[in-house]
Amino acid sequence: MSRDFVTHLECAYTGEIIEKGVPHTLSSAGKPILVRYDLAAMREEVTREDIETSKEPGFWRYSPLLPVADAANRVSLGEVVTPIVALERSIEHMALDGAEVLVKDESRLPTGSFKARGLALAVSMAKEFGFEHLAIPTNGNAGSALAAYAARAGIRSTVLCPDDTPFINTSETQAQGADTYLVNGLIGDCGAIINAGKESIGWFAVSTLKEPYRIEGKKTMGLELAEQLGWDLPDVIFYPTGGGTGLIGMWKAFHELLELGWIKCKLPRMVAVQSTGCAPIVKAWQDGVEHAEFWQNAATEASGIRVPAAIGDFLILRAVRESGGFAIAVDDEHIMRARDHIGRTDGLLMCPEGAATFAAWEVAIEQGLVSKDESVVLFNTATGLKYPLPEVTRRLDKDAEFDASNFS
Ligand SMILES: *Cc1c(COP(=O)(O)O)cnc(C)c1O
Repeated sequence: MSRDFVTHLECAYTGEIIEKGVPHTLSSAGKPILVRYDLAAMREEVTREDIETSKEPGFWRYSPLLPVADAANRVSLGEVVTPIVALERSIEHMALDGAEVLVKDESRLPTGSFKARGLALAVSMAKEFGFEHLAIPTNGNAGSALAAYAARAGIRSTVLCPDDTPFINTSETQAQGADTYLVNGLIGDCGAIINAGKESIGWFAVSTLKEPYRIEGKKTMGLELAEQLGWDLPDVIFYPTGGGTGLIGMWKAFHELLELGWIKCKLPRMVAVQSTGCAPIVKAWQDGVEHAEFWQNAATEASGIRVPAAIGDFLILRAVRESGGFAIAVDDEHIMRARDHIGRTDGLLMCPEGAATFAAWEVAIEQGLVSKDESVVLFNTATGLKYPLPEVTRRLDKDAEFDASNFS
């Protein structure tokens, strides 16, 4: 047994206090639930040095700030601290004056995306509660992460994806043991089917922000970033925003770190990046409203951010506004151009969602939303290898005479 510092849970909208140690979905107000910790006690008992010298893999080093009560319930697939890679040649055209553009490369996690963080926590808590069957609606990466961690925990999983989800996502999900289905609709339609099966099948839904623990896993991106930067933070964070778990989670992490006294710096401006093909949060930010409207006919190749309605919309918007950040949309053509550019010039094959943050940073610099001397962190949320890539079309004939002009 390890010590757990959770005091209670809380409705993110009304502040209603909710009991710990029992399963929860949404609050009585139908809003996401957040986990609260005894940070005063943690401040006395845990130090930054304890974290720095931890032998736990990857984000499990932050276990005092995580909700799993019994260490035996931690489900792990060998997580790593994801590297921060400074962009070099790919930013030369922006004529920066010594300022850094760093990429937190989440592609190195199990299943090739940062969804591993959230699902590792959701599955560990499911193990703690003794759940036997988990279900998820997904645009791809959450499904494969659930599949892998559930398989590891010996828990059954069912995954529903829109039928135009990238092929590799649905195949990897099935290959990691989930009962995998394609649905002729969007992620919300998948969620409705899962909801309909709650009673008769008895699965527990681990949909984004509809259970309290995925956000605790995503929070570790913020903890890890702070530790890697020497308990400091960048001026601006660009985050590809779908359901917003990562952005909300990092904002929560930063406040917990402040309260623990582990960081003293100014918090970063949080920038929510979406595709112009699905930009409900950007519209709500521009309109100055608290909740986003459903985005009709959502379409973008950055499938991880194709989320027409986010239940945590108010939390995303709150973090963006409180931090002095903004929300910005970039089109798919720019996203793909950014992906190809960074791959060719810096050797980093980003996923479209990650490339969107680069495209957004370019636009933000041009529009003066971010200055050239602000330090920036972009999140590459998955490996580019999971997405369709341009085909190789140039061919050589082994029997033909060598012709150097083929290589010009
Ligand atoms: C899910 C996903 C996102 C969006 O993450 P949220 O934290 O839910 O907003 C971004 N990029 C990729 C690759 C994803 O799979």
